[in-house]
Amino acid sequence: MYELAEVIVDVPTMQTDQPFTYLIPDSLRKVIAIGMRVEVPFGNGNRHVQGFVVGLKTSTSQQMDSLDLVSLKSIVRCLDLQPVLNQELLAIADYMQEVTYAFKITCLQTMLPALLKANYDKEFHLLDETHPIKAQFFKDRSVIDWQSVEQAQALKQFKELQAAGVVRLEYQVKTKNQVKTLRYVKPSLTSEEYQALQAVQKKSALRKIQLLQLLSEQKVHPVSFYKEQGISTAHLNQGMDLGWLSFEEVEIYRDPYAAYEFTPTQAMQLNVQQQAACQEILQANQNQQSQVFLLEGITGSGKTEVYLQVIEQVLAKGQTAMMLVPEIALTPQMVERFKARFSDRVAVLHSGLSQGEKYDEWRKIEREEAQVVVGARSAVFAPLKNIGVIVIDEEHEASYKQDETPRYHARDIAIWRGKYHQCPVILGSATPSLESRARAQKKLYRLLTLTKRANPLAQLPKVSIVDMRQEANNSATQTFSQVLQDKIHERLNKHEQIVLLLNRRGYSSFVMCRDCGYVLPCPNCDISLTLHMDVKRMRCHYCGHEEPIPRRCPSCGQDKIRYYGTGTQKVEEEAQQLFPEAKIIRMDVDTTRKKGAHERLLKAFGEKKADILLGTQMIAKGLDFPDITLVGVLNADTSLNLPDFRSSERTFQLLTQVSGRAGRADKPGKVIIQTFNPTHHAITLAQSQDYEAFYQQEMFIRHQSDYPPYYFTVKLTFSHEQEQKAAQKAFAVFQQLKQNLSPQSIFLGPTPSAIMRVKNRYYYQIVIKYKREPQLARVLREIVYNSQLEQRQGLFVSVDYEPLQFI
Ligand code: ADP
Ligand code: ZN
Repeated sequence: MYELAEVIVDVPTMQTDQPFTYLIPDSLRKVIAIGMRVEVPFGNGNRHVQGFVVGLKTSTSQQMDSLDLVSLKSIVRCLDLQPVLNQELLAIADYMQEVTYAFKITCLQTMLPALLKANYDKEFHLLDETHPIKAQFFKDRSVIDWQSVEQAQALKQFKELQAAGVVRLEYQVKTKNQVKTLRYVKPSLTSEEYQALQAVQKKSALRKIQLLQLLSEQKVHPVSFYKEQGISTAHLNQGMDLGWLSFEEVEIYRDPYAAYEFTPTQAMQLNVQQQAACQEILQANQNQQSQVFLLEGITGSGKTEVYLQVIEQVLAKGQTAMMLVPEIALTPQMVERFKARFSDRVAVLHSGLSQGEKYDEWRKIEREEAQVVVGARSAVFAPLKNIGVIVIDEEHEASYKQDETPRYHARDIAIWRGKYHQCPVILGSATPSLESRARAQKKLYRLLTLTKRANPLAQLPKVSIVDMRQEANNSATQTFSQVLQDKIHERLNKHEQIVLLLNRRGYSSFVMCRDCGYVLPCPNCDISLTLHMDVKRMRCHYCGHEEPIPRRCPSCGQDKIRYYGTGTQKVEEEAQQLFPEAKIIRMDVDTTRKKGAHERLLKAFGEKKADILLGTQMIAKGLDFPDITLVGVLNADTSLNLPDFRSSERTFQLLTQVSGRAGRADKPGKVIIQTFNPTHHAITLAQSQDYEAFYQQEMFIRHQSDYPPYYFTVKLTFSHEQEQKAAQKAFAVFQQLKQNLSPQSIFLGPTPSAIMRVKNRYYYQIVIKYKREPQLARVLREIVYNSQLEQRQGLFVSVDYEPLQFI
């Protein structure tokens, strides 16, 4: 029997970044299991903290010899009856800690659904009214709280009762996110007994007779069914007291997609390329190979159909499947395709769900009621068992990397899980990240290609480039070039649909004084405030600072304030003037703030309630509407000019993605890209939609300038309220790094970060480019640990391995 538990405590410091040994009190010996949360005393005094049990030991086992049993503290209480993290997820935490330099406790907490992290009460629900436990604990109630069981030291007994299906433990959050249950009425007697009872009732007891009649049908109905028949709760309670019936609480899941109707679909006849891809992947599954496949397929080439069919086969073998998509692509279109194929075997996880909804979906997976998970980044931690395939769609998307601690990349976790489950992992994209494509080149990944549009009638759209330098001086064509205007008129006449992209990356609207050139800055951060016309206010995108739009220049006092930059709203107004007959849907952060707004707008567009869909990056992905025949990119360049070596790659990806929205069915598509850099390779190769050529050329540039994928990178960031403190630390760490690393490594910095001041904190950074540095992990961990002491003085150090943002 286990007497000791290894616990990772919720105190993220160097000293506590390892398990501590605690005694398990008698009453909890059979309760505690690895992966459960416990409360333990920590440090001096009576401080209690939460922790995760990561190991169990007996006092006789070898490693115990060195431990002084007397000085050990005891676990105070146990917070779960079942482990919240299984062995696999605990092992992932080890891996995550290793690669992200985060603390173990932070990694563990990251994997839990938010509801388990929030404040909650726990209750036991009685499922079997006939069990003796009712009299002992529940009496006339059907729910009792955790504390009363705990105080009676009966957790062990309740654990067994839960396993036997007599009780169920529920986590109850004080807000509206509760488990939803429906009360059912269960007949307790046989039909003959009911008939006999009916015969002896008084003639006037109409309701009783009616109740007996209904019960004699031996059906389980919800309470509401009886109410509709005029039988009240009082009647039912009476029936229970007389032993005629029992109540049963049946859990119903909150289904966020309940309102949608999904028309079931069948597997399509695959084309030759799709079939070849499917076969290879399924072969790997069959051979239990944790092979990573890079499925490089142009937009509309039928990648999704390949995923669906592979998953179908995997499910048929009794295995499960995981499908990750970027948050933004989780439109109903993608969910719909999965629900339509696999109906309620699908659980959906994304940030648009409420905490309660997410928790329900998580439990469906846990209880193995759902076998396919479709979700965004954090769904990679879904507690699926026996995984047969993992898919990461749009694998190049930056949103797969978490931009706060722990800075994990979902692709890495997915590949780790693929190894654990010995199953294939599919990375899919029309424009793979250079890193992944390079790995395929080196045969670390297996490259599969789809080079044609899957719909035989569909063709890749024709793309033309408009040189905006010619248009810049003509106010009538500054935003919409003459060519684009003509094409839009053409489509409007034919009642075809148009998508217009306003590239907002690295771009914002601001106000400037025409007299003195003053730009309104954020008082807390080193960036200019962005103009938000909808609320008529200036807002900082970093700290949220807001102020009214100035009428006069705060610097020179003149009233020559002018709006610069083109916000989606301003473009919408301009488009409405140019095309008065067009119905326009605008999609940007402002119009999609409300829950479900994104879906509603897309649905309206899909139903042809508008002619033009105008929006930011968020419209570039996943749209599959047959009547879109024109895509216009208003400003291709803004993302090109960012001081980030990936800016060409990102621009190429964006232009390819958005072009792919046109001509997906039988009507040919046309794309117009407006740019000030018509000869840049990211633009010209997006025009010819030639990913392979882009890959070659961009690899050449990366090689010349020593960037990934030729080098690995790590970014360290130092921040403090005083600039000098941040800088000093950056330089001290720089010295330490130089002493410990080989001369082959290249340092960028220390330099102030591109936006040096955010929320009144100053940021400095160092980027290390390296090929092989066996000492690096040790040194970085040392730096992170050592910086713990300085945190109290307000100095923060963070490590970002393979950073996706260089600014
Ligand atoms: P991708 O994910 O590569 O963008 P999709 O899977 O969305 O491509 O497929 C694009 C379109 O082609 C969809 O409308 C899909 O229904 C259709 N499609 C996919 N595979 C086939 C096929 N084998 N035969 C006919 N149409 C197909
Ligand atoms: Zn700010």
